[in-house]
Amino acid sequence: MKILKVKDLKKIYGKYENEVRALDGIDLEIEPHKFTAIVGASGSGKSTLLHCVAGLDKPTLGNVYLDDVDLYTLNDNKLSEIRRQEFGFIFQSYNLIPVINVYDNIVLPVLLDGRKEDKEYVMGLINKLGIEKQIKKYPNELSGGQQQRVAIARALANRPSVIFADEPTGNLDSKTTNEVMNMLEWCVKEYRQTLVMITHNDNIAKTADRIITIKDGKIDEKNY
Ligand code: ADP
Repeated sequence: MKILKVKDLKKIYGKYENEVRALDGIDLEIEPHKFTAIVGASGSGKSTLLHCVAGLDKPTLGNVYLDDVDLYTLNDNKLSEIRRQEFGFIFQSYNLIPVINVYDNIVLPVLLDGRKEDKEYVMGLINKLGIEKQIKKYPNELSGGQQQRVAIARALANRPSVIFADEPTGNLDSKTTNEVMNMLEWCVKEYRQTLVMITHNDNIAKTADRIITIKDGKIDEKNY
């Protein structure tokens, strides 16, 4: 299982008096097969950190390693291949494609990677998420909770090593939040995946194996 490491990560926006140090020197190792929660006040740098670690946003300085591969030394094609094969993404907005049905949305990342989906595995996910009656429907025919379940199935369809989630339950009611969290925790246990998740919800953060608090672009060592 692959290990993610972050070395002296910095992300600086703007220049001179407009400079914002969104990340100001972060060193971190994400434990595999565990749930790591990222918490902190709004504007502290959580999303920037998640995006940099997930290969979505190039840091100004510093390195992100997946095992011994330094992600940002790779060319764009190689980096997107790693993202497609190793990472799954779940955001607060579901980002489903409106013109294709639920099943096709779920398997799209696998097909984009030039592979064929493992139907049995994908149907297993769909059943576990309780969206088997929705697979022929289009995203706009689903509730928010159902759309988020589809987004989760899509994130898991390529059996990623690491699931990155940015406030995935931010728009959901408490019952759906619990169901979504149960599913994600089940992935960590059953598929031995690594979950890295930003949350504002203390009850969710408390269920994590490790909580990382970000303050002003740095890890808040008091809460480390
Ligand atoms: P959080 O996720 O904790 O709310 P962010 O990572 O979104 O924090 O933002 C950290 C800081 O970086 C904030 O001050 C934010 O305004 C700034 N920031 C984020 N993205 C940009 C950008 N594209 N341009 C300029 N400043 C940005």
